[in-house]
Amino acid sequence: MNAERITEKLNILADAAKYDVSCASSGSKRENHNKGLGNASNGICHSYTEDGRCVSLLKILLTNHCIFDCAYCVSRKSNDIKRAAFTVQEVVDLTINFYRRNYIEGLFLSSGIFKDADYTMERLVLIAKKLRTEHNFNGYIHLKSIPGASDELMREAGLYADRLSINLEMPTEEGLKLLAPDKNRKDMIEPMDFLKTEIIRNTEEKKLFKKAPMFAPAGQSTQVIVGATREDDHQILYTANHFYRNYNLKRVYYSGYVPVLTDSRLPALNTSVPMVRENRLYQADWLMRFYGFKVHEIVNRQQPLLDLDIDPKLSWAIRNMHFFPIDINQADLQMILRVPGIGVESANKIVKARNFARLGWEQLKKIGVAINRAKYFITCKSNDFERRDLTGTKIKQFILAESHSKYLKNSQSQLSMF
Ligand code: SF4
Repeated sequence: MNAERITEKLNILADAAKYDVSCASSGSKRENHNKGLGNASNGICHSYTEDGRCVSLLKILLTNHCIFDCAYCVSRKSNDIKRAAFTVQEVVDLTINFYRRNYIEGLFLSSGIFKDADYTMERLVLIAKKLRTEHNFNGYIHLKSIPGASDELMREAGLYADRLSINLEMPTEEGLKLLAPDKNRKDMIEPMDFLKTEIIRNTEEKKLFKKAPMFAPAGQSTQVIVGATREDDHQILYTANHFYRNYNLKRVYYSGYVPVLTDSRLPALNTSVPMVRENRLYQADWLMRFYGFKVHEIVNRQQPLLDLDIDPKLSWAIRNMHFFPIDINQADLQMILRVPGIGVESANKIVKARNFARLGWEQLKKIGVAINRAKYFITCKSNDFERRDLTGTKIKQFILAESHSKYLKNSQSQLSMF
């Protein structure tokens, strides 16, 4: 192995991979056996670069050569950049060497498209297969699947990878046609559908035969790019919800478009998506998955954008003051979950604790409730704070004034209008 050339390739192909944010590794329970290498269990830790990108896995492209010309992508064929490609064996050796030195806990591997989808996917699968079968590597492997890859290759990929993902890229089909005319939604949806069926089949099989081989134990995920096209938050969350429901996705990652290319179809170079928009989308996503919110309650045609100055749960609450205040000692769990300042864990603790005694501010504080937010929306045993007739606008103003949020800066101009 020519170390200099490998380092050069690594620089090029790790840099090209940094635009993909979907690399969290939670959810896999692959255990070390036969004194193998690595152990991908829950709790693998991740570190993030200053701009919030995950770097804990060896995160590289197999190649940045690509036959496609997606407008938003630095690897697009018309972009005049340095190109490189690893061989299968080079990626295997790098992973093992980095792992042995404790630099990484796993591999996140994506690729431009060499010749066609299957030709590229075959190589990605071979890397995972060699790591598992020749090196007994039990670390985490996330393979980005190539849209349009055959079912046979997807099936094989699932036997070796912990997680598989296929990027949707644009939130809508129109957006995809505009910026990635070589791609089509069908080539993304068919493998997702195939994976969903195989994952369900494998779960059933595992119930009957403990020793049945694992198939993508950390499930499948996808990524949508935010801000490269004009889709609003309503369209983005609607798409995310559709894919969660119909394809059993573990995660949808929202990647703020980083303007690095000049193209009349793209936003100007100096107009990057504010980090806070990504953050609000993740919060809204959390509300849909764990708090029982429907998309239309968070954003809808009348209100298509998420508030940037407050989180989506608080935003919903102050738009729906007729539901509040609720009595924390009586309300059902679903309603408690909707109170700003109360998380899933605290809500469950409240329901258990009130079986033994009526709860006041002190107990709620001990449970972990953020009283400075929740107090406007609940009543409890203590009556030393009562919401009385505060309007939603006034509550928002009070909460923002007390907030130490790093996003508070964004809200200053709006606050002064109240
Ligand atoms: S197919 Fe992937 S790597 Fe190729 S240009 Fe499109 S987004 Fe970039």
